[in-house]
Amino acid sequence: MPITMETEKVSPSRSETLFEQARAVIPGGVNSPVRAFRGVGGTPLFIRSAHGPYMTDVDGKRYVDYIGSWGPMILGHAHPEVLAAIHSVIERGTSFGAPTELEVEIAELIVSLVPSIEKVRMVSSGTEATMAAIRVARGFTGRRKIVKFIGCYHGHGDAFLVKAGSGVATLGLPDSPGVPAEVSQQTITVPYNDLAAVEAAFAAYPDDIAAVIVEPVVGNMGCVPPRPGYLQGLRDLTQKHGAVLIFDEVMTGFRLARGGAQELYGVLPDMTCLGKVMGGGLPAAAYGGRADIMDCVAPAGPVYQAGTLSGNPVAMTAGLTTLRLLQQPGVYEQLDRQTKKVSEGLLQLIRKAGLPATLNRVGSMFTIFFTDGEVTDWDSASKSDTALFGRFFHAMLHEGVYLPPSQYEAAFMGLAHTDEVVEATLAAAERALDKLA
Ligand code: PLP
Repeated sequence: MPITMETEKVSPSRSETLFEQARAVIPGGVNSPVRAFRGVGGTPLFIRSAHGPYMTDVDGKRYVDYIGSWGPMILGHAHPEVLAAIHSVIERGTSFGAPTELEVEIAELIVSLVPSIEKVRMVSSGTEATMAAIRVARGFTGRRKIVKFIGCYHGHGDAFLVKAGSGVATLGLPDSPGVPAEVSQQTITVPYNDLAAVEAAFAAYPDDIAAVIVEPVVGNMGCVPPRPGYLQGLRDLTQKHGAVLIFDEVMTGFRLARGGAQELYGVLPDMTCLGKVMGGGLPAAAYGGRADIMDCVAPAGPVYQAGTLSGNPVAMTAGLTTLRLLQQPGVYEQLDRQTKKVSEGLLQLIRKAGLPATLNRVGSMFTIFFTDGEVTDWDSASKSDTALFGRFFHAMLHEGVYLPPSQYEAAFMGLAHTDEVVEATLAAAERALDKLA
């Protein structure tokens, strides 16, 4: 889409030069699609460094960061205690391919924090966690099909690239070439927040649904919370039909509460996928759940799953330090308070400028949809004015505020977003909206 911001630059920025170089050797110039700014147009920023709530690009411009590496940086960037812990462990070697004490410590901590997890296995990405979780659910139940929700994103595993959210939605790709029809046929997609649709899926395949996988609070079509009773309804239906209920808490785990969305809403799934925050900015993720289900995983049981770098000591240290710091009193209250302040402030300013806007927020995740209607599922999210969102995004970027570069991604706050940062953000929004008018 065209960008209407005026720019004083005559020569290309360092980001522009690097993006051109990158496109010659990396598909689309990026290592993960949504980084390419396709949803908003323009050139992605190449980042040189980040501290606290700020990121600095290769041209030396500083931005308030509301992406937080897509979720992990809840403590802020380059947190001194996380860095010190990484430095101390790295001296002893970076990977052993053998068990370590750190893996036991983090597993014990996760089991103590996440209400439904009795046993947990470490992996290196959220995608691995969700892929493994459905394999285990299929192995445990002896069934084939899974139910997923339109607009939810569970990583790039074959089974999940059916009506997915996040970058898939941003690029307007309903499905992905390369996924065999035999695989995608095993994925039943239904609208989020619609229990009748799940009931209908169970009626159509009464003995063949292995699992229902859900983002308990969706982040990947923008932030969309569950309607009251929805998660409990999923719990009841899966129980009734003998299917495994999987909460994909890769985004929400340790972010919405110490025990994730399941603690916040008081609904316990059979299995949970974790990632992002639990790696403290390094590649770590996990899947866990009921002991009888997790004991299907090799070598305890026959369902195979493995990883050369699984439980990597450097990633475990960053994760453990992050999770321990999140145990301090008042942490989640502060996240909630600051996110409320910034998101409601932005909403007011956008509406005052005469633009359509709807705010969805749960704890420190939020999205302002450029639409007047309530947003409860992909259908309503996709009514947003993405061109207007793109103009707002670029106006904010110009003013030094880095929002997610897509209408269909949630913004994340961290503990480094102080009052001063929030006020600077709202002042930037006033200037940005003045220019948009
Ligand atoms: N599940 C959810 C809910 C996610 O938001 C993501 C990534 O954004 C994933 C799974 C995949 O995680 P990863 O990108 O680490 O593979």
